[in-house]
Amino acid sequence: MTQGIRPLIAGNWKMHGTVREAARLAEAVREGVEGVDLLVCPPFPHLHTVSVVLLGGRVAVGGQDCHAAGKGAHTGDVSAAMLRDVGATHVILGHSERRADHAENDAAVLAKTKAALAAGLIPIVCVGETEAERLGGLAESVVRGQLEGSVPYGFVTAGGIVAYEPVWAIGTGRTPTEDDIAAIHATMRAALVERFGPAARATRLLYGGSVKPSNAKPILALPEVDGALVGGASLVAEDFLAIARAA
Ligand code: PGA
Repeated sequence: MTQGIRPLIAGNWKMHGTVREAARLAEAVREGVEGVDLLVCPPFPHLHTVSVVLLGGRVAVGGQDCHAAGKGAHTGDVSAAMLRDVGATHVILGHSERRADHAENDAAVLAKTKAALAAGLIPIVCVGETEAERLGGLAESVVRGQLEGSVPYGFVTAGGIVAYEPVWAIGTGRTPTEDDIAAIHATMRAALVERFGPAARATRLLYGGSVKPSNAKPILALPEVDGALVGGASLVAEDFLAIARAA
């Protein structure tokens, strides 16, 4: 944890569940955990329902992506303003699954991040190396490059969040060593402070990739780790809340 930063535990529900299951899961986490900010990011069709269930509760709602344009002829896409309209306050951008499935590069993520900021959403920009890059000793330079390429001016002052998610740790049950997580987070902090000045000391840096109740405590205790972006374990209310309690 970074001194003075309130932890955020964000759930990325990905492409799972029915609207009924989403409502039930939202209901089960609604009360949140004292001293920790919680966020859930359901699939688009469930967003409105989840947002209504969470109204007046302690858990915020976010999207998993948005288009870079404000509106227009973009079949199948969703704008940042639409997310705001259904109650979202945050949006995950540049997740490695989107970088892979939709060929999103840093420039695309940058454009989406600008759109999110313009619409008043807090972007959570995901960065992280592949296994080959880690084995090749390139993890830090890849993360630095992604940060440089996908985080725009104005990001820090608007409360933008960065999530370090090594691609090889997502959904695999494998995590980097604590030293490796701490090293990347220190690199991210330094890169942001270099670019944006001391204000970036307050930027939340999340770790994501196979976070679960059994490993959350030591990961969340690492310096410069200000919370977690949780996939699989966020689909089980007890596990998600247990991770939040570990923060
Ligand atoms: P995981 O996913 O917790 O299932 O590894 C994390 C993520 O993709 O955000």
